[in-house]
Amino acid sequence: MFAMMEAARLEELHLTQDPATGLKAIIAIHNTRLGPALGGCRYLAYPDEQSAIRDAVRLAQGMSYKAALAGLAQGGGKAVIIRPAHVDNRGALFEAFGRFIETLNGRYITAVDSGTSTADMDCIAQHTRHVTSTTEGGDPSPHTAMGVFAGIRATAQARLGGDDLHGLRVAIQGLGHVGYALAEQLHAAGVELLVSDLDRGRVQLAVEQLGAHPVASDALLATPCDILAPCGLGSVLNGETVGQLRCSAVAGAANNQLASADIADILQARGILYAPDYVINSGGLIYVALRHRGESLAAITTHLQQISRRLTEIYAHSQADKRSPARVADALAERLLYG
Ligand code: NAD
Repeated sequence: MFAMMEAARLEELHLTQDPATGLKAIIAIHNTRLGPALGGCRYLAYPDEQSAIRDAVRLAQGMSYKAALAGLAQGGGKAVIIRPAHVDNRGALFEAFGRFIETLNGRYITAVDSGTSTADMDCIAQHTRHVTSTTEGGDPSPHTAMGVFAGIRATAQARLGGDDLHGLRVAIQGLGHVGYALAEQLHAAGVELLVSDLDRGRVQLAVEQLGAHPVASDALLATPCDILAPCGLGSVLNGETVGQLRCSAVAGAANNQLASADIADILQARGILYAPDYVINSGGLIYVALRHRGESLAAITTHLQQISRRLTEIYAHSQADKRSPARVADALAERLLYG
């Protein structure tokens, strides 16, 4: 356990259990140099407790990097609640989790993540104020999409010589909460959309409302386009798919798009500009962090512009150093986190 913490440079690891509600929870606080740790709460089944702890630690580390490059006075953390095979009272379980968060005196602030909902956050909020994305706080996805849109402009400027998106071909994989909102903004900017989703209804909607061209899910990555925007699941760029890409740049919302770090180097060698996922998709984190601090929507919108500025800075370093933007982003984040 301590070796894992040391390898990830994790500050704190907290565990609790509550037999009355079935709660078994882990909170990993990665780095609080820039501020209290903020990160979502997962509610998933795990094959064993070690996997749940590993997941919390790995994700907390990612949140530190994301918050640092988003220019937030916030550290990185993550919570994992191991979903029991059966739960009598889900509300009581999340309330117990709220009491657990409260014991940390604000060093960790939670949010919605895989398997949790705004209603779960409302239960947590009954026992602690260190919670975001409650029903009142609202869905961060539109803000994530706004940030990705701004990031696509910065990417077009760096790779295609201008940030006017009119007439560009953008292929979007995944038309969910973020992907569809992004498609709407791109359509309004005059982009030609190529789209895929496992849910045919989402594709049909984009065809009817946005004039998008449907592409089969297994063909999207190899479709010729200017920019590929992965907005579905992670690990889409791997040893098998990276050679198939026929785009000038990759800039999308999905978390953990690279199956491994060396994929970034392959993209670089192929001349495909890669927008580091945790930089371009930080709009949702910016939204929840600033909402939690009581900032106005106008202040949040202004802060979102930091995403394109940061990407432009990363691209400039990348070009000067002949290193992948992913490696440049990691180095910049580490400088902010560790000095
Ligand atoms: P979502 O579940 O609403 O949408 C994902 C969509 O992708 C679904 O419609 C799904 O059918 C589709 N999909 C999955 N695999 C696919 C495939 N192989 N081909 C085509 N379509 C596929 O999720 P979301 O909230 O829109 O998030 C999308 C991605 O962005 C995720 O990776 C998420 O982790 C990341 N992200 C989201 C936010 C946010 O604010 N929601 C913030 C940061 C990062």
